[in-house]
Amino acid sequence: MNTKRVAIVTGASRGIGSAIAQSLAADGFAIIVNYKSDESAASKIAERINNLGGIAHLFRADVTNPDDRQALIDAALMHHNRLDVLVNNAGIAPEPRLDILQTTEHSFDNVINGNLKSVYFMSQSAANAMIRLRQSDTIESGVIINISSIRYFTTATNYGEYCVSKAGVHMVTALFANRLAEHNINVYEFAPGIIKTDMTRPPHVHNYYDAKLDAGLAPINRWGQPEEVARAVTAAARGDLPYCTGQTIHIDGGWHLRSL
Ligand code: NAP
Repeated sequence: MNTKRVAIVTGASRGIGSAIAQSLAADGFAIIVNYKSDESAASKIAERINNLGGIAHLFRADVTNPDDRQALIDAALMHHNRLDVLVNNAGIAPEPRLDILQTTEHSFDNVINGNLKSVYFMSQSAANAMIRLRQSDTIESGVIINISSIRYFTTATNYGEYCVSKAGVHMVTALFANRLAEHNINVYEFAPGIIKTDMTRPPHVHNYYDAKLDAGLAPINRWGQPEEVARAVTAAARGDLPYCTGQTIHIDGGWHLRSL
C-alpha cells in the first residue's frame, strides 16, 4: 500500500493554490498540481516540489468541465492509488467588475460555474472516491478544504456574482461536512481576506485595498500573503482539527471582527 498521503490542489499554478501545494508537499503529501491555462507556471511549481524531494504531478483540468473534474480525481488514483485531501482553491473574479444593476448573465454564469458549481461537483467526486478508499481500508480519513473569501458574508455591489458564489461555497461546506462525517471525512472552509496575488494585482483593485489599509482596515492591518493561507490549510489537511468539521476559518487579519 502507498503510505504517502495524496492531495489534489485545484488552481495550483499561481497565488494561494501554488503556496498550498508547496506547503502540503513540505508536510509530506504527494501533490496533484492542477492548472487550467498556465502550464509554464504550474510546471515550475511541480519542479520546485520535486527538486526539494517531494512528489508532484501536473494535471491540466478545467474544473468547470465535468469530464475534466473526473479525470483530475482519476489522476490521483492512477498515480498513487489513493486520495486523502482535496483543496478546492481554483477561482475567478468577474472581469470587468460591474455594479449589480449592470451585471451580465454571462458573467454571473461564468463566476458561479468557476467558483461554486465546480466546488460542489469536485467535492462530490472526491467524496465518492474517498468513501470507496475508506471501504477498502486504503485511507483512514479524508479532508476536503474549500477556499471561499470574506465575500461569503461581505457585500461588494460591484462584485455581486463573486459574493454570491462564495456564499454558496459556505453552504457547500456545511452540506458536505454534515453528509461526510460518518465516513470520517472532515470538510473546512477557509475565508481569506485581502491576499497579494494576481487576483488583487490590477491597479484599480490594489489601490482600492491600499487606501482601505491606510485608513486602518483590520486589526492586523496589512496585506495577507498566500503562504499564510497555506500554513492554516496545511494544519487542517494533515488532521490537526479532528473534532471540527463544517468550520469556517477566517484568514483575514481579524477583519471579520466587529468593533464599535
Ligand atoms: P489567482 O492568483 O488568480 O489564481 C487563480 C488560480 O485558479 C490559477 O492557478 C488558475 O489557473 C486557477 N483556475 C481558475 N479557473 C480555473 C478552472 N476553471 N480550472 C482550473 N483552474 C482554474 O487567484 P488567487 O488570488 O490565488 O485565488 C485563489 C482562491 O482564493 C480563489 O478561489 C479566490 O476566489 C480565493 N480568494 C482570493 C483572495 C485574494 O485576495 N487573492 C481573497 C479571498 C479569496 P491558470 O493560471 O492555469 O488559469
